[in-house]
Amino acid sequence: MNALRATVRDHHRSNIDEAPPSLRFVMDDLTALETEFNEVEVDLRKKQLSVTTDSIELEGVSLGQFVIRLNWSHLGENRPYEVEAVEPNPAAGDSSVTHPHVHGNALCEGDGKFAIRSALEAGRLLDFFLLVRQILETYNPSSAYVRIKDWEGVSCVDCGCTTDRDESSSCERCESDLCSDCVSNCSDCGRSSCSECRSVCHGCDADYCRRCLNDCDACGDAFCGECLTDGQCDNCRETLEEPDETLEPEVAKAAAPVTTDAEVHADGVGEVGLPA
Ligand SMILES: [Zn+2]
Ligand SMILES: [Zn+2]
Ligand SMILES: [Zn+2]
Ligand SMILES: [Zn+2]
Ligand SMILES: [Zn+2]
Repeated sequence: MNALRATVRDHHRSNIDEAPPSLRFVMDDLTALETEFNEVEVDLRKKQLSVTTDSIELEGVSLGQFVIRLNWSHLGENRPYEVEAVEPNPAAGDSSVTHPHVHGNALCEGDGKFAIRSALEAGRLLDFFLLVRQILETYNPSSAYVRIKDWEGVSCVDCGCTTDRDESSSCERCESDLCSDCVSNCSDCGRSSCSECRSVCHGCDADYCRRCLNDCDACGDAFCGECLTDGQCDNCRETLEEPDETLEPEVAKAAAPVTTDAEVHADGVGEVGLPA
């Protein structure tokens, strides 16, 4: 770094007229920057001054190191610097968010906006880098692009994929997290459900939550309210109705002369007639 600094000084001396005034601040603050940051880099050709932060961890999530890169030829412009993750650990739902306050290499300055602008305007480069680092090291949930608790995203209970919290749903029956592909809404009550908590109606093939399905009294399969009549599915009603029509007169005949229990059990037909 000493050699590099010498290069900057030589450059400064030999180009004193062409060099932007801000380069003087680069010189002044270089020593101080080197004590604050492990890596300080000057790129004379690109007119960039970069520092690298230590690895940053917020609420237990490691986001790695960040390079804060100042383009001193753009000092008068709106955003003359960028913040880039060295080894990005972006939010699960948005790869351009590498830090709760960094989106597409741009820092959301929040309350630090004014302080950063005045540091840059006054050419206090050390202050500028320290302010940016401070924002990177501080987590403010209310201004985060992605909240740190949602950083890893949510895991869909059905397919196992990871999605952004904002795009995920949850089963309204068991509260498991679901991705948008796996969530299904009950055709009756409209509640979202996971594969465990829903079933297909054997009659109409639509998805229903299990609570909106009932078993057919005869075959035991699950049906929606529309597909059951008096507790029985259409299939079972059809197969029961046909023989019923022919049996009915006999049942009536058999039931009429019943006088004793013995007779009822003997002809067996009484068991059908009695529970009603
Ligand atoms: Zn899924
Ligand atoms: Zn569920
Ligand atoms: Zn339902
Ligand atoms: Zn149905
Ligand atoms: Zn049935």
